[in-house]
Amino acid sequence: MSFDFDLIIIGAGVGGHGAALHAVESGLKTAIVEGAEMGGTCINRGCIPSKALLAASGRLRELQHSSELGIQVGSLQVNRGAIANHAAQVVEKIRADMTRSLEKLGVTILRGRGKLVAPQQVEVQGEKGSHTYTAQDVILATGSRPFVPPGIEVDGRTVFTSDEAVRLEWVPERLAIIGSGYIGQEFADIYTALGSQVILIEALETLMPAFDPDIARLAQRVLIKPRSIQTFVGVLAQQVIPGQPVTIHLSNGETLQVDGCLVAAGRIPVSEGLGLAELGIDTGKRGFIPVDSRMATDLPHLWAIGDVTGKMMLAHAAAAQGRVAVENICGRTAYMDYLSIPAAVFTHPEMGFVGLTEPQAKEEGYSVGTVRTYFGGNSKAIASGETEGMVKLVFDKSTGLLLGSHILGAHAADLIHEAAQAIARRATVRELVGLVHVHPTLAETLEEAYKRAAHALAGT
Ligand code: FAD
Repeated sequence: MSFDFDLIIIGAGVGGHGAALHAVESGLKTAIVEGAEMGGTCINRGCIPSKALLAASGRLRELQHSSELGIQVGSLQVNRGAIANHAAQVVEKIRADMTRSLEKLGVTILRGRGKLVAPQQVEVQGEKGSHTYTAQDVILATGSRPFVPPGIEVDGRTVFTSDEAVRLEWVPERLAIIGSGYIGQEFADIYTALGSQVILIEALETLMPAFDPDIARLAQRVLIKPRSIQTFVGVLAQQVIPGQPVTIHLSNGETLQVDGCLVAAGRIPVSEGLGLAELGIDTGKRGFIPVDSRMATDLPHLWAIGDVTGKMMLAHAAAAQGRVAVENICGRTAYMDYLSIPAAVFTHPEMGFVGLTEPQAKEEGYSVGTVRTYFGGNSKAIASGETEGMVKLVFDKSTGLLLGSHILGAHAADLIHEAAQAIARRATVRELVGLVHVHPTLAETLEEAYKRAAHALAGT
């Protein structure tokens, strides 16, 4: 049977884009279907605009603390509109670069909503009608959207999600943020730097429940307590009514009135309308498309990658999954190794994580050892006045295997890669002790941590 394409990818987010580039490199005739803006969540409403806003909040914080280094600055003026424009321009540039890179490589861009109408057949419903294309293989990369819990009404202006927050159309004086995960933390950093009073509402019993507990505790001390942030923990925002003011009814019986409310309560997959049920694929209650570690679904020649799989909802994970799917499509068996994929929160200071947290490692039955080193003892951190921070290593006491690394401190999002590489090659802390780091650098906090871990092993 001959096909229109070797590969059709539905969804041109970071996952679809990564898969398309690797497919073309591998010699596959490739098409990508996109029903909205090219670039998906990360480029248009996620990583990119949020990091442009965080660049502004970070610079503001640096300038506010520059007197520690002997630099006095006059009064700081914040131009909200200019900050928002900077973010919008960055988005535009990166979206255009991404689209051009696909076109240049010869990827066919099909504009419209894609749907599977039969195995290996994709119908694209565009502005000018629909057309069905055939492909040897199909990758679903349709991403995710914000989850809005029941009882919360979003009007997009006074009650909004990250989709609107990245546009920074206004800065509420009193802002409630529902959810204390990484999106909630990043926006708390942005809005408090711009002068908002933030009220963080977390339904679970601890703030930042997915983080290693030591990092979550330190983050509270460094990122929450010194800032204009009030917290509610173990409390559900049961009803949120938009307006001026926004009214929030909490499960503890209290009622809050605020100027704005950002709903950052997680994300849900975009898997409806793809024709999956008709092809016998069950996405369960939560809607994620089930895949194995090769990114294969239960249907031959159908693959899924990125947020829609719910495996690790991060841009670089989506791109890595795209690469793995294409490798398997080309007959070269490849598997995802989620343990070594790092994650970061771009607050000031940053947080970076890879591998297992201490509770996860215990749950998996390891004989868990941990060590901590502190930025307060690091020469570079002291010289630059960035002494708030910690590196925590989680390792297996019986083998010395590095299981996880959790960092809060300046440049943690960059520092974490060293530990990620070590976990990728399943290194032991004894092997890592031999690594020499430039002096003075923040990376020496990791070197010190490896030494402490190896020392702890020697004593067991
Ligand atoms: P998406 O980027 O969501 O792309 C899916 C695409 O598919 C969309 O363009 C959509 O229009 C299209 N689509 C859907 N259905 C169809 C259809 N039927 N037909 C045609 N097209 C369709 N991750 C990080 O790694 N680092 C960060 O710093 C970071 N910051 C973030 C900040 C925020 C505020 C948010 C919300 C997310 C952030 N993320 C970050 C997460 C990251 O954005 C996602 O993990 C990533 O975008 C997932 O990529 P994807 O390709 O799976 O899906």
